[in-house]
Order: sequence, then C-alpha cells, then structure tokens
Amino acid sequence: MRRILLAALFAAQLAAASPPGAVPSPAAASPPEYSIQAIRLADSPGDAVADMVIGAPKDEKIDSIYAIWLIRGGGRNILFDSGFHRERWFKESTIKDYLSPDQAVRLAGVKPEEVTDVVISHAHWDHMGGIDLFPHAVIWIQREEFRYYTGPAWQPGGDHDGIDPEDVLELVKRNTEGRLRLIDGDDVQIIPGIRAYTGGRHTYASQYLRVGGAPPFVLASDNVYLYRNLTERRPSATFSEADYPANLKSQARMIELAGSAQRIIPGHDALQFQKFPSVGRVATIKAADIK
Ligand SMILES: [Zn+2]
Repeated sequence: MRRILLAALFAAQLAAASPPGAVPSPAAASPPEYSIQAIRLADSPGDAVADMVIGAPKDEKIDSIYAIWLIRGGGRNILFDSGFHRERWFKESTIKDYLSPDQAVRLAGVKPEEVTDVVISHAHWDHMGGIDLFPHAVIWIQREEFRYYTGPAWQPGGDHDGIDPEDVLELVKRNTEGRLRLIDGDDVQIIPGIRAYTGGRHTYASQYLRVGGAPPFVLASDNVYLYRNLTERRPSATFSEADYPANLKSQARMIELAGSAQRIIPGHDALQFQKFPSVGRVATIKAADIK
C-alpha cells in the first residue's frame, strides 16, 4: 500500500515538474489510438518513374497520384500535407480528376475548419499549397525547412524549384498570426503518439511521421515516392544527388520505425488505394487490411 502511495506521489511530482507542452511522462495517459486515411486529390498520369525512383529505366512511365493523409484521434483532426490549388501548377503539370483539399477532407466527414493541425512534410507546391484552405489549423514544419525556403532558397545559389512564392507568404503569415509551430529536427514527438523524423532529404529539411499504434505506421510523403523505392532499394528524388545514401538510410530506418515495409505509406503511389480498403477517393490505412 505504502509503495503504491509513494508511486502515486512520485507521478504527481513528475507531472507538476513538467513545463507546459513538455513530452508527457510515462505516468501520463497513453496516447490516443489514431485512425489514418489517405485521400486522393488527383491523378498524375504518365510520370517518368526515373524522376521518382533513382536508377529506374529512363523510358518507363507510371500513373501516380496526389494525396493528403488524415489522422484522427484524441480530439484532433490532423492533416499530413495540404495538397494544392493554385492555377499555375495546373498548367505546368498533368493533373487529372482533381478535387481541392478542402473538399477532399469532407469526403472523410471532416469540415476544413475542423482541421486542427496540418503537418507539412516539405515545402513543394503539391504538399504545402493548401494550407490557406484550413483557416483554424496550426501548421507544423521543420525549423530548417522554414528557414531555408523563406530565405536562402531565393538568394543567388539557392534552390527553390517546386516552391510557390504564394505558399511561402502564407506560411510567414501563419507565423505572424501565432499559428505556426517549428519542429527542431529529428525524432521529435509533436503530438502525443506522433513523431517527426528527418534525414530523407527530399527537400532541404523534409520530414516524415511515425503514427504510434498497434501497430504503428510511417507516413513517408516524398521521402519515399513509390513502393518501388522500398522494394528495389532505390533512392527517392532528393535535394541533391549527394543525398541518395541518406535517403536509403532513412528508408531502412522507416522499416524499423513501422516494424514492416508494408506499413510505410509512400507520397505518390496509387497502389496505397488498392492495398488498403478504399471507398471512392478515401483509403483506410489499417494493418489488418493490407493486401
Ligand atoms: Zn510531391
């Protein structure tokens, strides 16, 4: 009895000692069980595989997709990536059967204003271009990704390929409104049970997520473009060619973090809507249902 009392006292002291926003102690409530859904925004027919799977045959084509991922639990509606809607990209890319991200979340029963958090894997137009459609959400991005694409990327020698200046302005606006959170690097718990990781280097400081659960999943975004990156052990397209080994290393780490390559969800692979049970544009990502 006395031992139980002491343990309770210790737990209470730990809780009292934690600053607000700190990672909960083991004594705190266990993280919520999350549901994960992939929502297809559009098709991208006839893409060159070699642009996504480094070293694949030059003339091989694949029909890929654009998607966002909705994570629900613990009173939150979290989006991983925000899709896109700006005119210019419809001229520059082949985009078919498009649905805007704010309409896409409605298909899963969530109103755009009910989205509480948007975690941005990287600053490219097709991932960060929809943040203005979720007015009440807190936006999460890596601190280094924010720093690079709001500054050095636009200086001589910088690389802002695939970055929309309008998205950058929106990101800065969110910051001035107090609704932006900067994540400090690798292996950081951002929301109970959800951790951010870096090292894939698709962009300057791209990140991916591990969603804890029984079992866990890794949402890779473009750090793994297609399932083929994993099965053929080929790098995904990276910030520079020097990052290919780092990308392969991060793929191996994702397998460890998810416990299986089957539970890594790539950024642009249409197969995720066949591997997992889908209704229309929405696939429910569940371990029991992997085909
Ligand atoms: Zn992408």
